[in-house]
Amino acid sequence: RPSDVSSPRRTKEIIERHGFTLKKSLGQNFLTDANILHNIASAANLAPSKGALEIGPGIGALTQQLAKAAGTVVAIEIDRRLLPILEETLAPYPNASVVNGDVLKLDLQELWRERFAGCTSVSVVANLPYYVTTPIIMKLLEEKLPLEYIVVMIQREVAERMSAKPGGKEYGSLSIAVQYYCEAEIVAIVPPTVFIPQPNVDSAVIRLKRREAPPVQTDDEKLFFETVQACFAQRRKTIANNLLAGIFGKAAKPAMESVLAQCGIDPSRRGETLSLEEYARLSNAIAAYRR
Ligand code: SAM
Repeated sequence: RPSDVSSPRRTKEIIERHGFTLKKSLGQNFLTDANILHNIASAANLAPSKGALEIGPGIGALTQQLAKAAGTVVAIEIDRRLLPILEETLAPYPNASVVNGDVLKLDLQELWRERFAGCTSVSVVANLPYYVTTPIIMKLLEEKLPLEYIVVMIQREVAERMSAKPGGKEYGSLSIAVQYYCEAEIVAIVPPTVFIPQPNVDSAVIRLKRREAPPVQTDDEKLFFETVQACFAQRRKTIANNLLAGIFGKAAKPAMESVLAQCGIDPSRRGETLSLEEYARLSNAIAAYRR
């Protein structure tokens, strides 16, 4: 389709014609591969009754694909200089609109009410700016937005941490935070060559499917995440040492030992070996001890 911007030649032509200079500090690596753009959009299972929220449309390469598949597309772009370009590239797609702002500062609940009211479901689909990948995903998850999928291109290493299972070096508090809210799956590994300019790292497309309810039962969600953080505070240390430092305090060693014994968790294990279920059991026992 002639209006598609998804090729290196078209991308360069548009950037040059508008006198646009890419800003590294905003994570501006534009995707220029039609197949990958198409695959990202189709991984979100969009339909005319559904909505898509894009974060960082750049010059609109992915936005165009989303607008073909979804009924309503809203794209949040921080860089004002891209607005005239987006006006041009999105002109054939009246169902796509752009909001100028920082996704981390916007009231997304309000945006949902104002823009997605008629949609049967909404997914976030984006090629994220890599300098803020984790804060953006955590904001989307913690605000408990009614999302179907989050399909995003991120650094491969971060995608591997998000989807890691217990026992490996990638498994950490990020894996647990993401998997508490979602089922995580890497759907593609993407080399630097498909971007302008090329990033220094491999990328991956990760698909997060929001769970109806968390897979484990926690009496105190905040304490659950604090327990996880504490157990990973020093990865080389045992959970006993990390829990003493972060949760119980040195004086409460006997209490800590009895809580672990009660949970059937060996104090000499490291944080990276505990499953979500074990973290839930542990934090529930800490909550009971505190009461
Ligand atoms: N979607 C385009 C593509 O795939 O070619 C551009 C992706 S580029 C990796 C990231 C985009 O996010 C840039 O357009 C950048 O200006 C924008 N951006 C960076 N920080 C942002 C923020 N905090 N809020 C919204 N957009 C942001």
